[in-house]
Amino acid sequence: MLKISNKIAVFLHVRPLIRGVISCRGIGLVLYSGLADFAGATRQIARNIEEGRRVLRFSLLGSGSSGNALFIAGPSSKILIDDGLSLRQVHARLAEIGESLDGLRAVFVTHEHNDHVTGIGPLARKCNVPVFVTQRTYERFPQAVGPLPHVHFFESGDAVDVDGMTLTSFNVSHDAVDPIGFAVECDGVKLGVASDLGHVSSLVRMRLKGSNGLILESNYCPRMLLAGSYPPVLQQRIRGRTGHLSNPDCNSLLASLLHDRLRVVVLAHLSDENNRVELALSLAAGVLGDHPAQLHVAHRHRPTPMFELTA
Ligand SMILES: [Zn+2]
Ligand SMILES: [Zn+2]
Repeated sequence: MLKISNKIAVFLHVRPLIRGVISCRGIGLVLYSGLADFAGATRQIARNIEEGRRVLRFSLLGSGSSGNALFIAGPSSKILIDDGLSLRQVHARLAEIGESLDGLRAVFVTHEHNDHVTGIGPLARKCNVPVFVTQRTYERFPQAVGPLPHVHFFESGDAVDVDGMTLTSFNVSHDAVDPIGFAVECDGVKLGVASDLGHVSSLVRMRLKGSNGLILESNYCPRMLLAGSYPPVLQQRIRGRTGHLSNPDCNSLLASLLHDRLRVVVLAHLSDENNRVELALSLAAGVLGDHPAQLHVAHRHRPTPMFELTA
């Protein structure tokens, strides 16, 4: 059943590219696509099913408190989730993996912390792309973000469709005003994204379930945090339910998400002070055991390889 909500009806007036809204069991699905593009994407998806081709490709261009940006390419469009990097860094890191911002359709935002949003203003203005964000997060954007050419509001729990790529948002527990994670789905392939969260709720687990690719925060080793140089107040903030996910928390989440069609696991947002890449990797490898999924870690200052998820 097609139903246009008041909230999105406003979008229909101001954004001619948005064609309609389907409301399904309380989840708003925004169809964000030109009709010609949509037909092309549909044909492409059909070919992908036939040939078992790559459907979703992704790379973390940077991860952690120095700046986060997740680049995702679907069959016919590209998006970013968060951008805490300079425009120059985004260009350089995309070039390293043989990609570019050409054809970028949207930037989505998980929360307002500097390491996730400082690059959004320059990028959105330069590429003239819309920013999809919850209203409460937008209202807390640092001033440095500046004016944005197009802003689209959605609520935590909504699903937004960009050229056949559906991003379903879900609430996470973090010390931001309205933090969210995403499940990105396209043609039966699913990428789950959960970073900057202090606690794994049953909602988080449910939304990530069945993912073929997982990006999970593995922020700190509890022993290193305790023995490290951070003052007790900061340690408490990191360890708390609205802080960050520890290696053991990440591992128990990963253990609960294993299934036959899991292909790639990327550990993200590692602390420079309170974690080590080898430690996080070896613990997660222990969880995977004989499971054939690839295991990687996202780095702070260089992009991961471009991972591919096939139908
Ligand atoms: Zn962060
Ligand atoms: Zn954060």
